[in-house]
This record gives sequence, structure tokens and C-alpha cells, in this order.
Amino acid sequence: MPTDARVVVCPAGPGPLQIQDISLPDPGPYQVVVKQFASGICHSQLHQMHGPRQAPTVLGHESTGVVIAAGREVSHVSEGDHVMVTWVPRDPNATRKPDPVSLQLDDGSIARSQGVFTWADTTIADEQFIVALPKDAPVDVTAIIGCAVMTGSGAVYHTAAVNEGESVAVYGVGGVGLSAIAAAAVIGADPIIAVDLSEEKLRFAEKFGATIGINASECDPVERIREITQMPEGTTSFGAPAAGVDYAFDCIGIKTTMEQILPSVRPGMLGHNTGGMAVLVGVPQTNVEIDARDLLVNEKKYIGSIGGSCRPDRDFPMFLRWFNEGDLLLNDLVTERYTLDQINEATDALTSGEISGRSIIEL
Ligand SMILES: [Zn+2]
Repeated sequence: MPTDARVVVCPAGPGPLQIQDISLPDPGPYQVVVKQFASGICHSQLHQMHGPRQAPTVLGHESTGVVIAAGREVSHVSEGDHVMVTWVPRDPNATRKPDPVSLQLDDGSIARSQGVFTWADTTIADEQFIVALPKDAPVDVTAIIGCAVMTGSGAVYHTAAVNEGESVAVYGVGGVGLSAIAAAAVIGADPIIAVDLSEEKLRFAEKFGATIGINASECDPVERIREITQMPEGTTSFGAPAAGVDYAFDCIGIKTTMEQILPSVRPGMLGHNTGGMAVLVGVPQTNVEIDARDLLVNEKKYIGSIGGSCRPDRDFPMFLRWFNEGDLLLNDLVTERYTLDQINEATDALTSGEISGRSIIEL
């Protein structure tokens, strides 16, 4: 039996987001229908909204909910289970490609999604994007595990694989950056340097484990990082001053920060070790120029991290454990709450930089 759903639609062409009442199809053999509790609001959706709009799109890619129907081949969750929805397939060993979802809108057009859509009171998704959530876990703040936490914490924990005692700088301390800082604190990185343009956000980052804040509106953050991390050895084999963090993460993805993370990391010492690692986490909106000589002679690494290199089945239980043990302050990380009807207000607030952590829609 089809399921009624209220869904946010980003129309083709200009105009605000719309809310439409539609019918979801019956789940296919590998699909799950989820009545939702809450969904996060992520910069990726702003990029989708502000990019070219050729077809109507349904948006959102992190949420929580309860399973109300499951296809016959779905075995890891069943009706009545609480779940998290994410956009990275949960099981890397699965050979089947996730089934795409196409939704018929009330004017007869077909809406597309990037795999999943969670800005809706009810959603339908391939079972690969559905991860079990224990019944005793809160169902509101855990909605941001499916993207913000996975992306930020995973970049530190998996992509870079930071070790205890190593130094970390995080550029941009919104929902993703704060999740990166929390993971660095769990690991025992030191120092953990937060870089942002807002004094208020820098102070907030201390709550998550940042040990030093650098206000990039008042100084050159690269120079400041190099002052803080000056190495006793003095200069590299090629005469450059030896300074910089072991890892620098760009959680924004603009040209300035993408170019700042490479000179923020330390050089390698020829014959002893290789250089530090610059990690791009934010979705890039442009290409960049990097100093290729710095990359080569200092044996630095510049790498990307998508979805924090996470495997949801393996990692989401770990993030929930961090939360339960007080190491991942999801209640603080969720800073604003909206209703589905306030979706345009919510996306405007994120666009204008008013969200200090992560905002959610309560459904
Ligand atoms: Zn996202």
C-alpha cells in the first residue's frame, strides 16, 4: 500500500523550496520505508540548491526514524526498528548497487535524489543506507551521525588515522569541524587547533576538545600555526623553518582554506620521516593552486576525505559509544531546531552563517 509523505522539493529553475504531499511507492525487495524523527541540514544541500537546477530534486542525507515497511530481501532491520539514514552504503562488501529512488510529484514530474532524501516526514531508501539505531538512543540529535559526524570524525579517525600525541589543526568549526575536533580529542591528539573567523565559534570549539583557537580574521592562521608548532630541530634538510602540525583539515572547501592547509602541515625530515598531511573534507567549490615544491621537497601529503572514509555498519555504533561516554556532545552540536514548514528559514540561516553547530528539522 502506498504511503503518504510530506516532502521538501527543490524545484527545477529558480524559487524557494516547496513542501508537497505525495505518495511513496511500495518498497522494492531491497527498500525500506522510514517514518522519520529528525533530519540534519548540511552544506551539501545548499550546494545542490544553489547549483544549476535542471530537474526537481528531493534533498537531505542524514536522519533518524522508525521502519514502517521493509522489502522481502531486507534482513538487518524490520518494522518497528529505529534506524539512522545516511548516504554512504553501510556494507562495503555488498555487491549489489543500491536501488535508485524516483518519486512522482503532484504535477506528474519525477524528482531525483542523490541516493537518499531525508527532508520529508517519511522516506524510502535502499537498505544499504539504513543503519540500526538502538531503541535506548535519543532519536533527535543522533540524526546528524549520518553525515556531519561521519564526515568530520571519520576524516580524523579513518582517513588521516591520527595517533595519540600528534598535532591537529581544523579549519572551520561548524558541525563537521566540531565532529573532527571531538574525534581528535578522543584519540588524544595534542594540540588541537581550531581555526575560524568567529570568536564565539572558537570558544564553542573548546567544549569539544580544541586546545587552541586561532581567529583568522585577526591574523594569518598559517603563520600562527607555525609559531605554535616550531620544532626544536630548527630547519629542514632544504633550509625551510621546521614548523607545522602533523595534520590540517579543511572542513570548509573554499579556495583560501584549501590553500592554507598545505603550508599548515610540517615538513618531513629527509631520512627520518615524511611530511604532514593536509586533508580536504569540505566540498570544494573551485580549483586551487598549491606550492608543488613544498609538496615535493617536504614530502607532504594532500588528500581528500569523502564521508570520513567511514563504513556506517562499523562506525556508527562507535560514534554512539562516544556519545554515551560523553566524548561526542551531540546535544551541544545540534544548535538549532526547525519544523518541516520552516525549511526555507532553516536553509537561509545556514547560508548566512548563523548556524554555529548543526541544525536539524524535527519531523
Ligand atoms: Zn552532508
